Order: sequence, then structure tokens, then C-alpha cells
Amino acid sequence: MTISSFFIRASRAFHGYPFAPQLLLLGTISGGGVVAYAESQSDVGSPLIDSNQNEIKKKKVLVLGTGWAGTSFLKHVDASHYDVQVVSPRNYFAFTPLLPSVTCGTVEARSIVEPVRNIIKKRSGEIKYYEAECIKIDAANKNVHLRANTDNPLIGTPDFSLEYDYLIVAIGAQVNTFNTPGVKENCHFLKEVEDAQKIRTSVIDCFETAVLPGLSEEERRRNLHFVIVGGGPTGVEFAAELHDYFQEDLVKLYPMVKDLVKITLIQAGDHILNMFDERISNFAETKFQRDGIDVQTGCRVVSVSDKEIKVKVKSKGEVCSVPHGLVVWSTGVGTRPVVRDFMEQIGQANRRVLVTDEWLRVKGCDDVYAIGDCATIDQRKIMEDIVAIFAAADTDNSGTLTVAEFRDVVDDIIIRYPQVENYLKSKHLQDVTDLLKDSEGNDRKEVNIEEFKLALSLVDSQRKSLPATAQVAAQQGTYLSNCFNRREQCEAIPEGPRRFRGSGQHYFLPFRYKHFGQFAPLGGEEAAAELPGDWVSTGHSTQWLWYSVYASKQVSWRTRVLVVSDWTRKFIFGRDSSRI
Ligand code: FAD
Ligand code: MG
Repeated sequence: MTISSFFIRASRAFHGYPFAPQLLLLGTISGGGVVAYAESQSDVGSPLIDSNQNEIKKKKVLVLGTGWAGTSFLKHVDASHYDVQVVSPRNYFAFTPLLPSVTCGTVEARSIVEPVRNIIKKRSGEIKYYEAECIKIDAANKNVHLRANTDNPLIGTPDFSLEYDYLIVAIGAQVNTFNTPGVKENCHFLKEVEDAQKIRTSVIDCFETAVLPGLSEEERRRNLHFVIVGGGPTGVEFAAELHDYFQEDLVKLYPMVKDLVKITLIQAGDHILNMFDERISNFAETKFQRDGIDVQTGCRVVSVSDKEIKVKVKSKGEVCSVPHGLVVWSTGVGTRPVVRDFMEQIGQANRRVLVTDEWLRVKGCDDVYAIGDCATIDQRKIMEDIVAIFAAADTDNSGTLTVAEFRDVVDDIIIRYPQVENYLKSKHLQDVTDLLKDSEGNDRKEVNIEEFKLALSLVDSQRKSLPATAQVAAQQGTYLSNCFNRREQCEAIPEGPRRFRGSGQHYFLPFRYKHFGQFAPLGGEEAAAELPGDWVSTGHSTQWLWYSVYASKQVSWRTRVLVVSDWTRKFIFGRDSSRI
């Protein structure tokens, strides 16, 4: 076989057979362990609907957004059963966890994006994509108003609308400035690919400006002071990337100003990475201290101007001014205006994000689902249903529950109210019937309604809301597509828990999030990871684990190859500092 025919065959293998199982095995010798990760994608595999009659009856599913949640839905939904349309102002999916790497040219922007049309063309039925922005959701008329993302004068009005039978809102969140004066005008954000590209040119701008003749040392220092606001994973990762960029590449190119560079990380809380295990935040703080990154905790930014940032030190109550060359604002997410408007329509005006039930259906309107960063699940309290649960369990109508009666409903309770399991874990209880023991821990034969209420009264304190992460968004997209794919089947034979307040069973199992751990790359080829089972791992081996996992999690083979080759290029040639 010639080299060119090999490449043609390889190219076909990746592009021509989209449903072939993908397997990636990255063997990484890390701390003596071998990390292997296999990813397989199987076809949803439902028969195509051929007859025109059935085609007409297909329900319209409209998806808003091509981020983690929307794309994950599109990748798994059986489009031969529905008329699927997707709308988003950006015609690609972006692998956000690698955005900090784009800011310093460790990976290129195009290596972490995949055109949405590449993703949808691989599906079993036709999916239509429109590059437009949703400007209003009209749930009463099952209609969505959109504005095409174009300024082409040939298009009369860019506005149009689409009807739906089912709407899936997956439009993510926007940056939250907490209305801090000057932030919008003077700070960079790190949310979109364009943001990362802007930071990349601005960093180089700062260096090129600092070496111009005629500047005082104070001006050079100001230009080379990089401030990051927000000590969460994004802010920390960007600080680490910037530090590496400077130490590994820029110091050789700008030796005359190498002693003037400073990186400051400002965090309102007492520790950085405070959503991680304490061991990880300690590790990160110690590492940053060693690297010379100035971590200022307990500080709140009051305002930002083009040259200075005003910071209030909480412990002293005083405000100080810090000159800066570049500020990156990374302090959490807020609600998009179109979601806010929709929330007002459906009586959720007092909430922060769209509230759904455990089946991801938006509360207060029919046939609308919300997934990803724009939504939160309102986990039902067990105490709201306690009387109904008691009545359903008390099959002999004795007015008391025996352990055996309780056992009969336990499985349904655990599925419907996941806080029960969290509570058992937090109290180190082995069996759910331990809840029925008396205050001294002795078994009871039966309990009455008041005793039953008391036994479960603290369970709801263990309800947890899910974080705004790609992991949650992607799992929700996959879950929802599975529900759509099996709608008919589950309506005929429900698989969900029993309805304590009504009759019968829920059609589907509620959404359950599985946490696979989280990473924090800390620079210098070191990372920290929190893995399932309270397992914490830090250091160089963890960085190799990070490389393996993030390579395997890429949305396509194309981006996987591009990302791995970018890393290799960086190792061999360093990062490119051209200001393009
Ligand atoms: P998004 O991915 O933001 O997608 C929203 C989509 O909606 C986009 O396609 C957008 O164009 C579209 N849209 C916006 N407005 C409209 C509109 N009006 N009409 C129609 N469409 C619209 N999470 C992790 O789990 N691990 C990580 O390591 C990690 N690292 C991150 C690093 C950075 C720098 C950032 C910014 C985030 C990171 N996250 C990480 C969080 C993760 O990216 C988000 O939780 C995830 O993107 C949420 O997915 P989503 O689909 O809800 O929203
Ligand atoms: Mg009874």
C-alpha cells in the first residue's frame, strides 16, 4: 500500500463510517500506573421511518444551543423519529476545558472546535441547523423568535420564527460581572473561543508595549502586571498557563523585562479552588507561591479602569489601587437576557436560572426542557410527599408502617429522592430501614405517621444542586436524548419510580448525575485531580492523566489529532508568540 492510499483509507475510516465504534487507548506511564481510557460511541440504532405519511407526523424538536448540552443531545438523538432543528449563533461546538490553553497558544483555537454540521451529518436522520440567535421564547404559542447571525444586506430582515412540539433550551450562561463598574469595558473574559484569542493577542501586546523605548520602569511594570479575578478552576488554570508561557517561551524573547513581570490572582473567598477538596486547594496555593504567582484571597474587586483595578481587602476594610496591563475576569456565570425574559413569562422571575424537575422539564410550561448551565434541577423534597408515601406504603391501612411495608417502597423512594442515599452516606447508615430506629438506635416494629415524619425530617438537608460544568451538561444532553428515543416504549411500559401522589409509575427514570472527578492543571506539567471515591491525586503523573482524559474526551477524531499534535508541537518548538 502506498502512503497516499494509506491516508485515503485512514481518512475514510474516520470520516466515512461515523457509526464505527471509536476506541482510544492512551497508555500513559504515570507514577508507575498505566492510564487507559476507552471511548466508544454506538449508534442509537432505530429503524428509519420510510413512509411519507409517517414523515408528516414526526414531532418537531427544536434545540437552542450547540454547546456541551445541545451537542450531546444531538449526538445521541434518533433523528429518524423526529423533525430535529438546531439553532445557535455559533456554528461549532467548542471544547471549553481547553480554552485556557488557547489563551497562550498551547493549543490553537481551531483544534478545539468542531463544526456543528460535521456533528449532525453523522446522525441517522436529517437535522437542520440555522445560524441564528434566539431572541424570544413564546411558550404559550409553542414558537421561538430568532435573529439570523448575519449582516448581509441581501437578507431583508434577519428575523424569523420556528414552531416546535418540544423545545430544548441549552443556551448556556453568560459572564457575571456582579455589576462591578468598569468590568465590561476594561476586562477580558474567558468564556468563548473569541475571548481566548483576544487574550492571546493582548498578552503579546503587553510585552511588545513594555519594551518600547521611552517608557519609565513603572510604566513597564504596569504593562506587565497580569491580574486574574476569580480563583475558580478557569482563573487558576489561566494563571498557570500564563506563568508557563512566560517561563518557557517569553522570558527568552523579552529578556530585558523578565524581572518586571507579575501575575496576581484575586479571590473573594479564603482559598482558591474552594470547590475542590481542601488538599487540592492547599497544593495549588503552595505551588503558586513557589512559582511567584501572587494569590490575594479575601479581596473583592470594587471597580476596574483601563489602568487600575480597585480592590477591597475584606479583613482591613480598606480599598487599594493596583495598576494593571491586562485583567481577566472569571468569577462565575449569570443568566442570559432571553432566558431571563422566558423566566418572567413562566413565573420564575425570582430564580437565578431556569428551574426544571428531575426529568429536565421546565417547571411552569409544557414540552419545554432545559439542560446545561442555563438550568437547575429543583429536587423534590421528600417531606412534601411524606403523607402520600406513608399512605402508599401502609398497604394494610393499619395507620402504622412496619419495616416490611417500608421495604416495599424503599426502591422507589431511593430513585425518586436521591437525597435519601446522600443522607444515609452522611450518617454512615448501612440500610435505609435504619432510619426507622428510635432515638436510642433500637429497632422498632412499626412507626406511626408522626414518627415516620420525624425519621425522615433531616433527609432533605442533603439535596444537592449540580455544578455548572461540561460534565453535567453533557450527561443531561445524553439522558434527554435517550428519553426522546424511547418515548413510545416507556409510555407503554413505564420504567420510572411509582408516583406517590398520583397513580402508576413515571415513564422515565429521573436524571441522575454521575461524577467522574475533576481536574485542575496547575502549570509546570503538574495538575491536581479529584477522582471518585474521595481520591485526590496531584503532581506530574496527574498531568499525564489530564492529557489522556482530555485527548479522549474530544468530540471527534479530527480535533483529537489536532490537540495532541498541538501539545507535541509545543513540547518541540514552544508556543508561537506572533501577534496575529
Ligand atoms: P455552552 O457550552 O456555553 O453552550 C451554549 C450554546 O448556546 C452555545 O452554542 C451558544 O452559542 C448558544 N447560545 C447562546 N445564546 C444563544 C441564543 N440566544 N440562542 C441560541 N443559542 C444561543 N466544565 C467542566 O466540566 N470541566 C472543565 O474543565 C471546564 N473548564 C472550563 C473552562 C472554561 C474556560 C470555561 C468557560 C468553562 C469550563 N467548564 C468546564 C464549564 C463548561 O464549559 C460549561 O459548564 C458548559 O459549557 C455548559 O454547557 P452548555 O451547553 O450549558 O453551555
Ligand atoms: Mg401498616
